[in-house]
Amino acid sequence: MVRTRIPPSPTGEDLHIGNLHTALINWTFAKKNSGEFIVRIEDTDQTRLVKGSEERILKTLKEYGLNYTEGPDIGGNAGPYRQSERLETYQIYAKELIEKGVAYYCFCTKERLDVLRKKQQKEGLVPRYDKHCLALKDPRKKVEAGEEYVVRLNIPQDITISFEDMIRGEISFLGKDIDDQVLIKTDGFPTYHMAVVVDDHFMKITHVIRGEDWISSTPKHVFLYDSFGWEKPAFAHTPLLRNPDRSKLSKRKNPVWASWYLKHGYLPEAVLNYLCLMGWSHPKQKEIFDLQEFVSVFEIKKMQTVGPVFDPIKLEWMNGEYIRKMSDQELKSRLAEFYKSKLDENIVEKTVPLVKERIKKLSDYLSLCEFFFSPPEEYQVDLTKHKKIFKKVHDVLAKISQWKAETIGEKLQELAKEEKLHNADFFMWIRVAVTGKKISPPLNESMEILGKKECLARFEKLE
Ligand code: GLU
Ligand code: ZN
Repeated sequence: MVRTRIPPSPTGEDLHIGNLHTALINWTFAKKNSGEFIVRIEDTDQTRLVKGSEERILKTLKEYGLNYTEGPDIGGNAGPYRQSERLETYQIYAKELIEKGVAYYCFCTKERLDVLRKKQQKEGLVPRYDKHCLALKDPRKKVEAGEEYVVRLNIPQDITISFEDMIRGEISFLGKDIDDQVLIKTDGFPTYHMAVVVDDHFMKITHVIRGEDWISSTPKHVFLYDSFGWEKPAFAHTPLLRNPDRSKLSKRKNPVWASWYLKHGYLPEAVLNYLCLMGWSHPKQKEIFDLQEFVSVFEIKKMQTVGPVFDPIKLEWMNGEYIRKMSDQELKSRLAEFYKSKLDENIVEKTVPLVKERIKKLSDYLSLCEFFFSPPEEYQVDLTKHKKIFKKVHDVLAKISQWKAETIGEKLQELAKEEKLHNADFFMWIRVAVTGKKISPPLNESMEILGKKECLARFEKLE
């Protein structure tokens, strides 16, 4: 049984868009293999916890429809799914490593470690622990005496650790390049490395699929699996998303929280579709396809290793394509949901066909259609010079008995001709008078929807 996982740390505002990408790949890989996708919360760094982060992360995953069958909020057979609730387990397995001689107690003070690091940096070396405490005669005595300690991994200097990456092929590291990683901290909490291996093992994870920034951690994990005598999962390191300037995706250049996109009118299916294209391309070069299709054609081996560019402009375009593909009815209900049913449904229903071709995000709707719900409060163009013409417009429109877009258009056109006005100018004034803006949905249709009384009132105000 294939089992994949996403193990976010609740240390940010919400799920990072890069994590949403890895979640998508894990979810898809599980689906494709009729397996299971689970969520585990990695909250071992108690100093970096952000309140409410876990709830928001889980909520966001659900809003994107990446459903999981086990997790901290729903439980499951391999729980608990929060690392802070599994501390005893890590202690037991850390002891086992010490007994096997692949881990040791370290009592070094922060001061000693600082001196060591500075000395190594001065010598142009990569700072790493010098195995000082490995030589201690009776470390247990110190532990029993209540001295503060950490537990470190004892990586032999002379070994090579290799693993097969499903995307990148074989990757090897030399023991001498791997630091004696802390496994258990002074506060008794495990570090990520200890917890991730123990949990992935006991949660029966078969495929560890994560971002490429974890590649250098993997040899430590491989060493741990081998030391325990546990079967290793398969590993795959996906490429990290980049800003359009190819720097690592960062808050300063792009919104990075997955929920930001939903709050700003992007559709979850469009965002996921766009993420499908990050580091992978459709065998038929298709750009727009649904998750079901992705599950059937996705091959993890075909993922690329170069960091794909996450381009918000391209995403916005794709979102617009999704909006255009929707039925009017569907768009109406998505808008109602987005605006939390605060808008008059009748107006939304009537205006949807006018704007469907023009909006890229659900949030574009109101800026384009605000004038349907209330008269403009300001005008993008100074209309004070056109009082006389507005009076005439008013009188012409007042005579119309069949208030239809076509008739409105004809009557206005006749008036423009009589008054010898340039169409472009004349219709722009009218548009601004009715909508407040120079750009709007089609004018005659909009006026039809607004109704005769309301339109007349808007001109009257300007006469
Ligand atoms: N807690 C790590 C993170 O926040 C998980 C890395 C992994 O998938 O092993 O990304
Ligand atoms: Zn030490």
